[in-house]
Amino acid sequence: MEKYNLPKLPYEYNALEPYMSLEVLTLHHTKHHQSYVNFANDLLAKLEEGRKSGASLDFKAISKALSFNVAGHILHETFWKIMDSASSGKNDIGKNAPKLLEQINKDFGSWERFKTEFSETAKSVEGSGWALLTWHKEHNNLNIIQVEKHNVNLYPEQKILLCLDVWEHSYYLDYKNDRAKFVENWWNIVNWQEVENRFAE
Ligand code: MN
Repeated sequence: MEKYNLPKLPYEYNALEPYMSLEVLTLHHTKHHQSYVNFANDLLAKLEEGRKSGASLDFKAISKALSFNVAGHILHETFWKIMDSASSGKNDIGKNAPKLLEQINKDFGSWERFKTEFSETAKSVEGSGWALLTWHKEHNNLNIIQVEKHNVNLYPEQKILLCLDVWEHSYYLDYKNDRAKFVENWWNIVNWQEVENRFAE
């Protein structure tokens, strides 16, 4: 059976400081992300056992839990990739993602307007969730999606280019209840080179 694996981070645990602390990143990666991987693998194993034994299973509950945990895994995998240290030289969108910036200007009117829309989408998530910048394959344009948990409000045919985790585990130890400050600071650690690569694909 194919299994999900926790990917290694492409940088050190302290690389995103001071905007995301070593403590937060370590817990987030080794505890939270790891648990989504483990749950997803357990659910797949349960399905496989059921197929072998013919036992009846609660398919509704399994599907729901699988969607949550697999989406959690995929979003975190993407989240680690689209960030890098503020000293990496990859944080300037104009320098590192000129094609994407052109598309942002086309679809949102301006960089400032996009940044406001994305930030407000992230800040206004009720409870736990994400803001995503996606490529809408049917219309060939960029799109912002507000996801609750890891998988609610998501829709098909959207390639994820950029994602921001605003679950409390993503910022609470660093920012307490000030999610807005976290979102504002997070722009300093976006790896626009990676986002441009995803856009080019
Ligand atoms: Mn998370």
